Amino acid sequence: MNMRSFIDVKPDSHFPIQNLPYGVFKLKVGSKPVCGVAIGDYVLDLSMLEEKGFFNKTDLGSEVVFETPSLNKFMSRGREAWKQVRAILQMALSDENPILRDDSDLKKISLIPMKDVVMCLPVEIGDYTDFYSSKEHATNVGIMFRGKDNALMPNWLHMPIAYHGRASSIVISGTDITRPKGQRKPADSDNPLFGPTNLLDFELEMGFLIGPGNKLGTPIAIENTYDHIFGMVLVNDWSARDIQTWEYQPLGPFLAKNFATSISPWVVTMEALEPFRVSGPKQEPEPLPYLKIGGDWSYDINLEVSIRAEGQKEDFIISKSNFKYLYWNICQQLAHHTVNGCNTKTGDMMASGTISGPEKNSYGSMLELTWRGENPVKLPNGRERKFIEDGDTLRISGYCRGNGYKIGFGEVSGRILPSSK
Ligand code: MN
Repeated sequence: MNMRSFIDVKPDSHFPIQNLPYGVFKLKVGSKPVCGVAIGDYVLDLSMLEEKGFFNKTDLGSEVVFETPSLNKFMSRGREAWKQVRAILQMALSDENPILRDDSDLKKISLIPMKDVVMCLPVEIGDYTDFYSSKEHATNVGIMFRGKDNALMPNWLHMPIAYHGRASSIVISGTDITRPKGQRKPADSDNPLFGPTNLLDFELEMGFLIGPGNKLGTPIAIENTYDHIFGMVLVNDWSARDIQTWEYQPLGPFLAKNFATSISPWVVTMEALEPFRVSGPKQEPEPLPYLKIGGDWSYDINLEVSIRAEGQKEDFIISKSNFKYLYWNICQQLAHHTVNGCNTKTGDMMASGTISGPEKNSYGSMLELTWRGENPVKLPNGRERKFIEDGDTLRISGYCRGNGYKIGFGEVSGRILPSSK
């Protein structure tokens, strides 16, 4: 695919014409949020193209779906409409087509330098589910919390384990995160203590977003799951490990997780990710029939985590992982989620759980990277980190490497502010 845009896109850019991720933006100098796509260093304002009738011949007709502050309307319309719009955008941005290239008035109002916009939450997320699909992560955490013999629970190899997260505290990349307070009970203390968490952590995750949902009582068969998945984002599921250790039994994590989850602003579509499908790890024992699907359903997405302490000039890479390490794939996750008749709705987010790889430098949390603080991460200038400190900025980026181009997710970042007094 040697498609090129008339817009100059640097070879290292995350946003070539092969990608075209969707987001919601507003101008820095006051405007209402609307939908756009990223192309090189620009945002293409889809509300402008919509107004000019660019999408009238698609399934969308003349319906207004992009002059709105979320992608939900567009996402609800399904794969056929998504493909039609993508084809029109690739045509309009191509260097071979004059429709936008030679229309300087339209270019002026619809192509906006990224530096002039503020990104907003791209999707109105009604419900958020967090899976636990990395075998390496589940094993590492299991060893630390329960010992080597009980590391992987007996159910883990039979189903994609998950819990219901909190949608209200999902925030856009760049949002500052206040260090949470809560109960923790140190081993040498008879009673629980209350105060700011001492063990603040990140979780390297990715999330997929639901397009059309399913009705209550009607499961999505695994072979139909893909039609319900619109695209993916980077996720940092912030966690407080000391609060988690004390509260998580018998019902699972609560305040250790629900204070904040950060996501990247650009939703990369499954169509853009198609060339990067790969097989996942071999599943042994064989899953039950409702979780069985033929073909390759994992994705080769390089992931990188970096940290920058306050006053430090550059980011320091602390982990390199890959989405393809996940044991359970997104189709299995969605089939399992709905097999009991649970309904999903447009905009729901399903996160992967921490994505840890097999090597020590591919672990997806400080808990694992430092092995609960026993082996601190060495930062430049002699600093070290056991967990995340106030003033630290955590950044996750991700991309697929194509032939001469990258399909990128941009990044999700967040800075830690001290607890309130
Ligand atoms: Mn998580």
